[in-house]
Amino acid sequence: MVGFTTRIVHSDRSSPVEHGSIHKPIHATVAYGYDDVQDLADVFQGNSSGYSYGRQVNPTVSALESQVTLMEKGRQTICFSTGMAAIGTMLFALMRSGDHFVSSSFLFGNTNSLFGSFDVHGIGVSFVDATDVKAVESALTEHTKMVFVETIANPRTQVSDLEAIGALCRDQGIVYIVDNTMTSPYLFQPIDVGASLVVNSLTKYICGHGNALGGAITETGQYDWSSYAHIEEIYKKGDSSKWGMTQIRKKGLRDFGAALGAEAAHHISMGSETLALRLEKQCASAQTLAEFLDNHGKVSKVYYPGLSHHPQFERSAQLFRKPGALFSFELNQESDPFDFLNRLKVVIKSSNLGDNRTLAIPVSQTIYYEMGAARRKEMGIAESLIRISVGIEEVEDLIEDFRTALET
Ligand SMILES: *Cc1c(COP(=O)(O)O)cnc(C)c1O
Repeated sequence: MVGFTTRIVHSDRSSPVEHGSIHKPIHATVAYGYDDVQDLADVFQGNSSGYSYGRQVNPTVSALESQVTLMEKGRQTICFSTGMAAIGTMLFALMRSGDHFVSSSFLFGNTNSLFGSFDVHGIGVSFVDATDVKAVESALTEHTKMVFVETIANPRTQVSDLEAIGALCRDQGIVYIVDNTMTSPYLFQPIDVGASLVVNSLTKYICGHGNALGGAITETGQYDWSSYAHIEEIYKKGDSSKWGMTQIRKKGLRDFGAALGAEAAHHISMGSETLALRLEKQCASAQTLAEFLDNHGKVSKVYYPGLSHHPQFERSAQLFRKPGALFSFELNQESDPFDFLNRLKVVIKSSNLGDNRTLAIPVSQTIYYEMGAARRKEMGIAESLIRISVGIEEVEDLIEDFRTALET
């Protein structure tokens, strides 16, 4: 079974499922009982795999973790209550004050805010233009432990220099973290560019239905943690390519407690079965809509990696199965973005992305409001920028909605 969807829809049955259920059941339990207390002790001591307490493990969540690992061609995955919990917990578990990391400056807004908080707590961050590996390289210091990038940045769709940054991190022995949320493992698998750890907000494309929050960290097995300074002695057990994840599960998930609930895991797992089908449709519609707007007189700029004038058009075509299902654009000077948005009838004004429904949001006044005008300018966010997350509706209906809103 080699196909992406074939693997996903049959993954629950790769481990024994109670009564032959074709879906992993929702395990609504916090704790697990053992007949022999030695078995319980072995689980606690990491000598055998098993279930200890719901803040660290749950069978429904484990099934989703296996699914995400399959999707990412990884070694293992840890799920969290949200994508932000995944990113924050991972950094907390692996970094110490005095450390430094380099981040793309084209970043999800809350990740940007979170990295600012780490800076306040003594873990320094340099924001650089990650579309060019040279900017990353010149920001490295002797204290740099990690490089963090997104695949396609939201909302301006810059594509990171993923392959060259991977090679740089490998040469320097630096942990390479790729947030794959915008592409999802259907369009791109960061293991192919040497990522050490892969972040996914499960809330977005993987779930797809806008009905559950979740996040995941997947380890690719490409980083050897025996050379990493901050792994605690007790976690240095067995294969050293797994030590980092053991520490994230213990010092991060267990101690911070941002565990994914079994019910949310079930919703996400359901959604993930149609990831490939949804994204094929969403990406095709995004391409059609981006081209329509690009040729419309009332629109001054469109940012989508599938347009030939996009600065990373070729890189995107080379790396990704499709250039994603999100784009952003600016109206010309005379058109008011709020008036335009209020005239849309099918498209919903909402902050999420990756939903089955097409969603639109004015960026500077909402998701990028708190960071202020100066940082927005640095990130290339115009005050009139509108972001569109394309859903699965018939594309003719979407074009008609945009046309009417533009031309009324
Ligand atoms: C949404 C998002 C996150 C955060 O995920 P949540 O599940 O909303 O916490 C992180 N990174 C990217 C690129 C995102 O789009």
